[in-house]
Amino acid sequence: MVNKVQLGKSELQIHPIGLGTNAVGGHNLYPNLNEEAGKDLVRTALHNEMNFLDTAFIYGPERSEELVGQVIKEEGKRKDVIIATKGSHKLIGKELVMDNSPEFLKQAVEGSLKRLQTDYIDLFYIHFPDEDTPKAEAVGALSRLKEQGKIRAIGVSNFSLEQLKDANQDGYVDVFQGEYNLLQREAEQKLLPYTVEKDISFIPYFPLASGLLAGKYTKEMTFDDLRKDMPHFQGNAFIQNLNKVEQIKRIADKHEAEVAHVVLAWYLTREGIDALIPGAKNAGQVLSNLKALEVQLSKAEIEEIDRLFI
Ligand code: NAP
Repeated sequence: MVNKVQLGKSELQIHPIGLGTNAVGGHNLYPNLNEEAGKDLVRTALHNEMNFLDTAFIYGPERSEELVGQVIKEEGKRKDVIIATKGSHKLIGKELVMDNSPEFLKQAVEGSLKRLQTDYIDLFYIHFPDEDTPKAEAVGALSRLKEQGKIRAIGVSNFSLEQLKDANQDGYVDVFQGEYNLLQREAEQKLLPYTVEKDISFIPYFPLASGLLAGKYTKEMTFDDLRKDMPHFQGNAFIQNLNKVEQIKRIADKHEAEVAHVVLAWYLTREGIDALIPGAKNAGQVLSNLKALEVQLSKAEIEEIDRLFI
């Protein structure tokens, strides 16, 4: 039995390895996704003690929330699961705009509740900032939804430090979700110190740099999904990143583990990072990522990885 961790100041207790579900019905991110395979990822997580599922309106759009909701219902697991979802994308015809206005966030929460087939959301994040709404006002709207029992904890994602400070004026923010991995460590400069100081959980997204840090890609590989435009996957940068990943293999071998396990274990040694939400394309990867909890890195190994990816 794995010890659960508390999310920020909230009452939510989660397994430190959650499941990112952007490949569960996220047809707008990955072409040719099989929905049954997506549902199987969620089922596998729920059958293996993992209680933290991360979804969003925009994965699909809408479809990830629907499939996650279906599996939870079919498995009769609502009481055992902590559902995190996100909203801020508003569709105007075919155009997507960000909206953090109190009225829109209220609508977004109602929409997520329906798609997830539930009457409360454990953690609702404002997915991206808009340009107009003062962030304290946006989070104030979520705090009213929390009082009404529609959400249990408040998160924000992709906010700058200034936006996060504004959002957290009244101490309402429980969780911050931002991009952070060994290839993208900017959050260490300002965001992570602030979240540590304010007891806000920092949930890193793209922990495996969309698979690049899992140790199985070769320089011959090409991608036809969201990865084809990502900076880490371009030309020389891609080759240099693969070379760095190769160096983790040595450490992984010593632990009889895989590169992905060592990378995930390393994040959990960082102050302020208590839980992870790696994504997966098949059930084997979901199970494999749990093994990160078995890897105990030495101080020297933690420092070596730190230096390799500085
Ligand atoms: P990720 O966790 O960095 O990478 C996941 C990918 O790595 C998988 O789809 C799989 O891809 C590969 N992988 C996973 N486990 C593996 C293993 N054990 N061995 C080998 N390969 C493995 O990327 P992500 O899923 O995009 O991000 C995680 C979650 O963060 C998302 O699902 C989503 O919930 C959230 N997110 C949030 C935001 C935001 O704006 N807040 C943005 C992005 C993501 P292949 O099989 O194709 O190699």
